[in-house]
Amino acid sequence: MVMVERSWFLTARSYLPPEVCQFVFCVFWDMPIVPTNRFLGFGTTIFAEMSRRAAAVGAVNLGQGFPDFDGPAHVKDAAIDAIRAGHNQYAPMPGVPALRQAIADAWASDHGGFTTPIDPDEHVTVTAGCTEAIAAALLGLVNPGDEVILFEPYYDSYRACVSMVGATPRFVTLRAPGFTFDESELRAAFTPRTRAILVNTPHNPTGRVLTRDELGLIARLCVEHDAIALADEVYEHLVFEGRHVRLASMPGMWARTVTMSSLGKTFSLTGWKIGWAVAPAPLTAGLRAAHQFLTYAVSTPAQHAAAAALRSDRSYFEAFIAEHRERRDYLCGALSEIGFGVRPPEGTYFVLADHTPLGAGDDVAFCDRLLDEVGVAAIPPTAFYEHTAEGRSLVRFAFCKRMDTLREAVGRLRRLAR
Ligand code: GLN
Repeated sequence: MVMVERSWFLTARSYLPPEVCQFVFCVFWDMPIVPTNRFLGFGTTIFAEMSRRAAAVGAVNLGQGFPDFDGPAHVKDAAIDAIRAGHNQYAPMPGVPALRQAIADAWASDHGGFTTPIDPDEHVTVTAGCTEAIAAALLGLVNPGDEVILFEPYYDSYRACVSMVGATPRFVTLRAPGFTFDESELRAAFTPRTRAILVNTPHNPTGRVLTRDELGLIARLCVEHDAIALADEVYEHLVFEGRHVRLASMPGMWARTVTMSSLGKTFSLTGWKIGWAVAPAPLTAGLRAAHQFLTYAVSTPAQHAAAAALRSDRSYFEAFIAEHRERRDYLCGALSEIGFGVRPPEGTYFVLADHTPLGAGDDVAFCDRLLDEVGVAAIPPTAFYEHTAEGRSLVRFAFCKRMDTLREAVGRLRRLAR
């Protein structure tokens, strides 16, 4: 297959009728039938692709971010109890009341620096993972032709959902090695057509936790331009230094922010796909307009168990962060000994390292070599960039893995140093 940049597909689809696009891509690029033009250039997600290849060659999988250990027993027991108690029919469209109350109570605790009272009926919607919340927010609150600001590297579904909505993305780059953004670039990204900015903190894949000053600047620009913010805060409990600060807690932001999170990351149950969105009533109405037709409601017993999870003792959350800190410190230390350029992440369970000290080639070539010669799967981050040149020197490793798994991966990666 001829390697072409996504931007090429995206440009082509604006000029060519759908049938011509399909024909050209099928014949000349040997692509399987693309369902619609909305998905041209997106291919198969890099997570599915790398996990498949990792399994095929028996590699240690530090690619897709899922734990290789199980979630807590008290949460699994709560799910089994809910099934036995007969909580097995459709949940209410916005979510099981017990879970929405638990989410509101979690917001009412000091976590996140947020003080506005959350009403579980008016402000909370349960979704199929944070991924559905993002899709529903964009579909329900952004019109075709509106502009949406994305920081790159971005989580891949953001870019595809913006395309599904028919909105125009504008990009602001978080530049290595510090992964900070340029204030003037952010200011310039706001235009009279800006409807929304998507903000992910703690940030996948860079591991950045945006500072209060950075969040304050984003907030001021949203207020000035009357834009809404879609805040993906799924890694809210994975902050290694300091505490998580919600974008919605910045001045003027509650009224214009949809905050999204999920059970999967904090409770190591990524397969349960329970997420939620918290937003003021008008934004909740937009999001629910889409959610009711996307999934209507999500797994009832898992929602009951999620309510129990959110009511876990503080010691659960403390152990969770302590264990991930140990994993982070071990992997980052080892990567830097091996020769990678490493900046330990302030949050999340990902490290985005510079692979260029270890040899030539871009991120894709490097990840191919890791899989085939070393037996470790990682993610080539150009999948998360529009300006792919910014990501070619980088590689993403996930460290939400057992220490034994990390030790095995490091043993294999040491071959690179020889
Ligand atoms: N959030 C996970 C990651 O970044 C992947 C989820 C998925 O596979 N879509 O690795």
